This record gives sequence, structure tokens and C-alpha cells, in this order.
Amino acid sequence: MSHNISQLTQKNASRVPGALSEKVFKRDRKYGAHNYNSIPVALTRGKGVFVWDVEGNQFYDFLSAYSAVNQGHCHPRIVEALKKQAEILTLTSRAFFNDVLGEFAEYATKLFGYEKILPINSGVEAGETAIKIARKWGYTKKKIPDNQAKIVFAEGNYWGRTTTAISSSTDDKCRDKYGPFMPGFIIIPYNDLNALEKCFKEDPNICAYMVEPIQGEAGIIVPDDGYLKGVRALCTKYNVLWIDDEVQAGLGRTGKLLAVHHENVKPDMVCLGKALSGGMMPVSAVLADDDIMLCMLPGEHGSTYGGNPLACRVSLTALKVIVEENLTENSRRLGEILKRELEKLPSEIVEEVRGKGLLRAIVIRQGLGFTASDVCIRLRDNGLLAKSTHNDVIRLAPPLVMNEDQLMECTRIILHTINSFKN
Ligand SMILES: *Cc1c(COP(=O)(O)O)cnc(C)c1O
Repeated sequence: MSHNISQLTQKNASRVPGALSEKVFKRDRKYGAHNYNSIPVALTRGKGVFVWDVEGNQFYDFLSAYSAVNQGHCHPRIVEALKKQAEILTLTSRAFFNDVLGEFAEYATKLFGYEKILPINSGVEAGETAIKIARKWGYTKKKIPDNQAKIVFAEGNYWGRTTTAISSSTDDKCRDKYGPFMPGFIIIPYNDLNALEKCFKEDPNICAYMVEPIQGEAGIIVPDDGYLKGVRALCTKYNVLWIDDEVQAGLGRTGKLLAVHHENVKPDMVCLGKALSGGMMPVSAVLADDDIMLCMLPGEHGSTYGGNPLACRVSLTALKVIVEENLTENSRRLGEILKRELEKLPSEIVEEVRGKGLLRAIVIRQGLGFTASDVCIRLRDNGLLAKSTHNDVIRLAPPLVMNEDQLMECTRIILHTINSFKN
């Protein structure tokens, strides 16, 4: 499986998409909606930290499907669980009980230290669910007057692309011509406790602050040490629920099981998604204690596929893989090595390197005549797939099953590629 950098460089030419790849791009563009701007690479197979294109080229995956594949592609244990459950029972709807949901719920609540879990499908639905629960709590427990509840979000937040999610977004590109927007949302700067306290003080009708512990889509923005502790203290002081969006940063990605564990704090609600199924299917969830979760009553929320036995079996196994294969510790340890190696990047090209665990970002200086996405294309040519966010940030998020030798090879590819932009 392993090859050295000289072999990789020699193979450069063959990694430029050929006729088979072009066929995939063309058909996709002809029949599929144009709501994505994909990097030109046509993948057909994945295993662990690797993916292969239709021409047989092998690449390191440094996106992990936006951290949904923390457990590595097609993890044998998760595939096995999926196949087995698929032959027994896949979907009952919640009109009836199924015998897997409870097993998953018991394991997950004990693992994360909450009394209840509400399973749903995509990450954005976890956010929607948390918002609904927070509003219900606001009216029934905090006694906010009817229809007056407000939710606070941070600038640069990303939690999906539904009409409600874009209503809280500060990214004009995703909002323009998609209004009108959901009322009752307040936006404050990220990583600014004074701004948070000011808005809590001014408005007694705030029921929740929903925030990412590290902002993913915004470009791996890590708040100052103490920010999460501060959020906890302010939310407690003003009787506001803290909704912690761990859809991307959670599940071992940053070197802790949840990113909030870096500051040993417990949010009132946690949103999970992405790696919750190890990349098999959309599975998300909201965690909370009874006092909050049980505000929502039967018939008030649901989804046909939410909590289905296939998803619960897959998700239970995906969580066990993270725990039993020590993926969180591996992310922490390899993350330190990655940081150390990325610090060797040339400062005339790289403005900053930031992140935690195996969630890192390289910030490319502006005005050099090339962008982060040009770097991603050349990384592809050299056998490593990463995706830029905005113009200047390259996100690095390999599967957490990577080993040290593989990581060192990847850092050589990254260094070699970025150095090749020197003139
Ligand atoms: C990706 C993401 C979501 C949305 O997840 P989907 O499954 O794409 O709906 C929510 N929150 C964060 C922090 C994310 O990164």
C-alpha cells in the first residue's frame, strides 16, 4: 500500500483525470443539479484512509467526507453490522418499537453522559430538532411569552442548508434570493464572550445559544482557550440553553470524543451527525437531559427514517469502533505530529496553520497569483484529496484510522506540493 514521495511524483501525470473520469463528470453535470462545485476526481472505491478513482489512481482522503468517515472508508466492522441488520429489519417507522433503538440509545447516552438521545437523519435535522426543543423549553420552563423565543448564533456558523439554517447564516452567497428568513435569530461575533453577555442581558426571551466548539465550514476557526468555559458560565447565569453543534468537530475529530471536552464543560444539548454512522448513511442525534428533552411530547416531532433499526445498528457499531479502536487518542497523537510537520511550511506562502487533533487548516496568503483551490488540484495530482473552504483555507481532515507512517507520507506530499508553488 505504501509508496514514497518519488513514486508519487513520478505518477503525477497519470493522476490528471482521463477519459473515464471525464465521462463521469460529463454525465453528472448533464443529469445532476449543479448545486456543488466538485474537485475533478471521480471516485469509485474506498478503504480505510484511501480512495481510488475510476482510472485506478489511489489517493489519501484528507477530507473524510467532511469528517463523516472518521472510522475510515468501508470499515469492515461497520459494513458487517450493516449487512447483517439489512437482512433482518431495516425500517419500521416509530409507529412501532424496534429492538435496536434502545440498545443504541443506552450505549450513546452512557458514552456521552446524557439522560436522553433523540435520533434523526442528517446533521441539519439535529440542529432543527435542538432548536425546537429549546423553544419548547423556553416557553414551558423559562416562561418566555408565546412566539417571542430567540436563539443566538455566531457569525460564520454553519449547520446546514435548509431555509432555517440559512436564516442564521452570515454567508450571503447561500442566502441571496432564498428569503424570506426565519425570525427570532440573533447573530453575534464568534469567540466574543462580551458580545454574548451583552445580548443575554438585553433580551430576557433568549432560550438558546447554538454554537460550534470549533467552526468547521468557516475555516477551522478555533476559539480562545476559556471560551467554551465562558459560554457555559454565561448560559447558566442567564438561564439560556447551550446547544453545542459537534456535528463536524465531535466524535474524536479534534483529539477528544467531543470538542467541548478540551475545556471539560457540559453543554445542555449536543448535536451529533456525520461520523455517527461512519459514512454509511445519514444518522444524527440530539443529546440532552430529561429536564430539557422531555419538554417535547409525543407527536410533536419525528421523521419516518429517524431511529430506524438499520441506522441504529450502524451507528452503535460506528461509536464502538471509535471507542474500541482508540480513534480519539490516535487523532490527538497524530494531530500533534501533523501540526509539527505543517509548521515547516514556507511562510511566504502559508499565513497560518491552525486546528486541533486531526482537524487542521492551512491558510494560504492572498495575492500570490494562486488560491487554496489551485493547491488542492495539485495535491490531487500528487495523490492527496483535500478541499478548500473560502478562497484561502485548505482543510485537512484525514480518517482517524490513519497510522503514523501514512501521516508522515502525507505531510511529505503536502510540503512538496506547497513548496512547488515557490517561484
Ligand atoms: C455538516 C454540518 C452540519 C449539517 O450536517 P448535514 O448532514 O450536512 O445536514 C451541521 N453542523 C455542522 C457543524 C456541520 O459541519
